[in-house]
Amino acid sequence: MNSFFAPHLPSSNRKKSQLISIIIPFYNESPVLELCLSRLVNVLETTQYQYELIFVDDGSEDGGAHFLERKARYIPQLKILRLSRNFGKEAAMTAGLDHVKGDATIIIDADLQDPPEKIPEMLAVWEKGANVVLMKRRTRDGETWLKKLTSSLYYRFLNKLSHCTIPEDVGDFRLLDRKAVEALKTLPERNRYMKGLYAWIGLKTEILLYDRDPRAQGVTKWDYLKLFRLAIEGITSFSTSPLHWASFIGFSAALLGAVYGVWIVLKALMLGDSVQGFPSIIAVITFLGGIQLLTIGILGEYVGKTYIESKQRPNYLIQKITAGEDYIQSGVQFTSMKVAQND
Ligand code: UDP
Ligand code: MG
Repeated sequence: MNSFFAPHLPSSNRKKSQLISIIIPFYNESPVLELCLSRLVNVLETTQYQYELIFVDDGSEDGGAHFLERKARYIPQLKILRLSRNFGKEAAMTAGLDHVKGDATIIIDADLQDPPEKIPEMLAVWEKGANVVLMKRRTRDGETWLKKLTSSLYYRFLNKLSHCTIPEDVGDFRLLDRKAVEALKTLPERNRYMKGLYAWIGLKTEILLYDRDPRAQGVTKWDYLKLFRLAIEGITSFSTSPLHWASFIGFSAALLGAVYGVWIVLKALMLGDSVQGFPSIIAVITFLGGIQLLTIGILGEYVGKTYIESKQRPNYLIQKITAGEDYIQSGVQFTSMKVAQND
C-alpha cells in the first residue's frame, strides 16, 4: 500500500530550490484521501521542485485526518491542519493560504475532480512569469442544461455589477505565486467569496483549459440551497448595486403611487365618489407590500454582513497541526514499513 509513494529526496538532490505548496481542503473525504495523496506525491516527485502538501481538514467526522497524520510520520512534506469544526471550504482555503511557505501555491480539491497531473503544466506557465494560473473547465459534461444556463446568466449578471471580472467555468483550482498569496492575505473580510477575492487582486493571470473529472469517490457537499447562498454572497460581497436598485424601485413605486393618487382624487372630484375599486386597492397594497419587503430584505443582507464583519471573529480556528517535518526534526521519523504495519 505504501509502495505508492516515491521515496523522499533530500532538498540538496533537487535541482531547484523553489518550494511549491499544495493546499487541499477536505471535508469527509476519507475514501479518496489515499488516492489523492499518492497521485499528488507521484506528480510532484516528477517535477524539479521541493513541495509541501497542506491538507486542511474542515471538521471531517469520518476520521480522514487520522489517516493523514499517520502518513505524516514518513512523508516529511505532509502537513495537516485540523480545523476545530466545519467552517466551509472558503475558510479552509483561507487557513491553508495563511500557512503556506511556498514560492507558488496550488489549491486543489481532495475528490480528484481537479487532476493533479495538470500541476506540471501550471508550474511551466508560472515559470514564464504569471502570478496566477487559472484552470478553466473546457466542458461542463454531466451537468443539466438548467445548471449551465443559470450559471452563465449568473456570471453575466455578477460581472455587470462588480468592478472586477469574475471568470466563468473557473473554480478554486489555480496556482497563485507568493505575491498573489500575500495580496489575498491582506483582505481581512469574514464574508469570504473566494472567487471574487481572487479576481479582486488582479495581477498577471494566465488561463489553462482542463477537463474536470468526475468525483473519484463520495458525494458532493453542495446542494442548490448552498449554491443559492453562495450566489447571493457573491453579489452582495462585490457590489452595492442592489441597494441602489432598492432606492430606484422605491422611488418609482412612490412616483406611480402619487400619479395614481392624483388621478383617483381628480376622478372623485369630477365624477363623484362612487366607493368602488376594491380590487385595485388590494392590488396596490399587495404590490407595495411586496416592494417594501423586497427592499427591506436587500437592506437586511447588507446590514447582516456589516454585523458579521464588525464582530471581527477569525475566519477559522485550528485544533491541531501535524507536520511531517517535525518527525524528522525530533528524530522519530518512521520508515514506511513500520507505518504499514501500524496502519
Ligand atoms: N469541502 C470543504 N468544506 C466543506 C465542503 C467541501 O473543505 O464544507 C471540500 C471538499 O472536501 C472537496 C472540495 O471542498 O475537496 C470541493 O467540494 P465538493 O466536491 O463537495 O464540491 P463540488 O466539486 O461538487 O463543487
Ligand atoms: Mg468536487
